[in-house]
Amino acid sequence: MAPPARRPLALSASRAADFRQCPLLYRLRAIDRIPEPRTRAQVLGTVVHSVLEELYGLEQPERAPERAAGLVPAAVDRFYELDGGTEVVPHAARPEFEAEVSALVSALYGVEDPRRFSPAACEQYLVTATSAGTPLHGYLDRVDLAPTGEVRVVDYKTGRPPNPRYQDQAMFQMRFYALMYHRIHEVLPAQLKLIYLKNGSWLTLSPDLATLVATESELDVLWSEIERAGRAGVFPPRTSRLCDWCNHQALCPAFGGTPPEYPGWPGSRAVPGRDTLPGSPISEEDER
Ligand code: SF4
Repeated sequence: MAPPARRPLALSASRAADFRQCPLLYRLRAIDRIPEPRTRAQVLGTVVHSVLEELYGLEQPERAPERAAGLVPAAVDRFYELDGGTEVVPHAARPEFEAEVSALVSALYGVEDPRRFSPAACEQYLVTATSAGTPLHGYLDRVDLAPTGEVRVVDYKTGRPPNPRYQDQAMFQMRFYALMYHRIHEVLPAQLKLIYLKNGSWLTLSPDLATLVATESELDVLWSEIERAGRAGVFPPRTSRLCDWCNHQALCPAFGGTPPEYPGWPGSRAVPGRDTLPGSPISEEDER
């Protein structure tokens, strides 16, 4: 298979987390773009997000739990049609998979009633830059706008909620999104909300300007480290217990492997102005 075309890079919340976890992991994913097998958890996240997007696309009174449940089989059909993804979810496992999607969708009603408000946007791809020029991009699952003008940025998670010790890491993604939103719209989101559909729980954060300024500095420092590593071609492995879940052990010197020849730094993506783009140069599954 021909390698994917190279393109200048921008920072997403997921790749930022990768670089912090392990610079080599960042390189293999963002620069070499070594394909990784899709996981059932990723596919589950994608299907649940598509159902929720469709649900919020209905008229408000139509968003009853039964209607939401009725959207699930078609979303699973689409997954099979588009993806032919029988390796990840074999047809024999469809009933169990579909039941899991239904349970996650139904859990939303324990957190909020979708009939009581309409989002300003769903599945919105944003691209922008910090004031120092660090290019940023990512998906916002949902943006709510209160009648009083307050903005809430919402992200759905289909995995387990984090241990309280790691909640800051979970909220990093939300601070990242809030910063992008602020850079584009010049509006400070009043609330960032992470909804964990697995158990119907949620985390919220009400960011102030100082929080976003600190996030911006944090990302500028991180991006300059990535650019430096990228120009030098030096991305050392950093082992941790997360290596158990890494798909690249065979290419990792820490596990006796050899990385492919470094293809060179593809450069930073130019961001001409504050912008919101349709379509996507990154995988949504990256951000789930
Ligand atoms: S196995 Fe661990 S050290 Fe090696 S690339 Fe993966 S995360 Fe990094």
